[in-house]
Amino acid sequence: MDNCIKRYFIITYGCQMNIHESEKIAGILTSMGYTLAENEKTADIVVFNTCCIRENAEDRAEGNIGALKKLKKQNKNLIIAVGGCMTQQPNFAISLLSKFPFIDIIFGTHNLENFKELLTKKLSQKKTLIEVIETDGCIYEGTPKKRTSYPNAWVNIMYGCNNFCTYCIVPYVRGRERSRKKQDIINECKDLIKQGYKEITLLGQNVNSYGNDLEDGSNFADLIKEIANIDGKFRLRFMTNHPKDFTDEMIYAIASNDKICKCVHLPVQSGSSKVLDLMNRHYDREYYINRLDKLKEVIPNCAVTTDIMVGFPQETDDDFLDTISLVKYADFNGAFTFVYSRRNGTVASEMQGQIEETVSQKRIMTLIDLQNEINRKQSDKYVGKTVEILCEDFDSKKNCYMGRDEFGKMVYFTSDKNLIGEFVMTKITKTGGMSLMGELID
Ligand code: SF4
Repeated sequence: MDNCIKRYFIITYGCQMNIHESEKIAGILTSMGYTLAENEKTADIVVFNTCCIRENAEDRAEGNIGALKKLKKQNKNLIIAVGGCMTQQPNFAISLLSKFPFIDIIFGTHNLENFKELLTKKLSQKKTLIEVIETDGCIYEGTPKKRTSYPNAWVNIMYGCNNFCTYCIVPYVRGRERSRKKQDIINECKDLIKQGYKEITLLGQNVNSYGNDLEDGSNFADLIKEIANIDGKFRLRFMTNHPKDFTDEMIYAIASNDKICKCVHLPVQSGSSKVLDLMNRHYDREYYINRLDKLKEVIPNCAVTTDIMVGFPQETDDDFLDTISLVKYADFNGAFTFVYSRRNGTVASEMQGQIEETVSQKRIMTLIDLQNEINRKQSDKYVGKTVEILCEDFDSKKNCYMGRDEFGKMVYFTSDKNLIGEFVMTKITKTGGMSLMGELID
């Protein structure tokens, strides 16, 4: 092994936002001459990019940091850095360091883009460097990125959140909404398409409020229309939408261009207006159904996926039945289902009427069974159809290629040729639960 080459390894927890932020850390390290290590054992620097949305992600991160103690003993020069939203919580850095004194760098969500300066500083000093900025971060342009999800590219359009849903810690650790300038986003997308990326996924905690903080009148509907007008064959996706800001203008913008996937992630969280109010979601059951109805009126075949939480404080059996009836009505094309988990520092964690785990478990199983049944029926309707998919990867366990149609449905198929990054036509031959099996057609 060449001793001059320094290697990095990044361990990422949480959502697409974090995956993309790890691409930025990897980009910064690459620009400093580091290359990717096979695993933490062969790395000179290990970075934990943490998530604190759910307690179990935090527990896993702490468990994995603890496991590096032995490695650090064997290799005193190993740098261990911990960042992400876990460390951004008040007083968290100090308590983390008291548990794991061998950590070298602790940084937050607002100064990730300064990782080069942080690492350079650390390399010239012995003691642990703690730099967690408490104020809202500004917007950095030009951070190098080492992208890992070809043919898809993630593009941040905004940071932070203003919504303060009562169960969520994000606004406390990621600050208030800050939108990137429209031209910077468009330039990044143009560049990605030129580089050969075939799918762009725009990221924000609530993409529908993009531009509210800008003075030039930019909004999300105009942004997606302008990106879709860039020359070339590619797909445009975005996440996450907030139903309260999901306007008619948005729906018509999605309908306006074939490059914009007819697939919308619209988290409902609960079918009970009472629970939605307790969650501080700023819409009720009727308003959500109104948005769904409008979307289906303008784009009848539009796929809709969602997030649903059960066991929120004070959720009664009747409230849960409201969720069940809404799921049946919506016929969602997919749902991320969760049991509410009490998160310190949130309003909901202090609420009366926390629900027994056994009750929540029963509810989630009922919900999962229902959604699986809906998805099975939807999958069955695909059999015999011809669909265009974007080939994304090779699944070595299944020994076949995989890709999604514009509605987000996963299709597996075999091919002698590497087709990753190509649009191909497949005929669906059978279903396999949530996914589909297909045959390539010329
Ligand atoms: S919209 Fe609500 S759930 Fe989503 S990040 Fe903001 S506070 Fe959290």
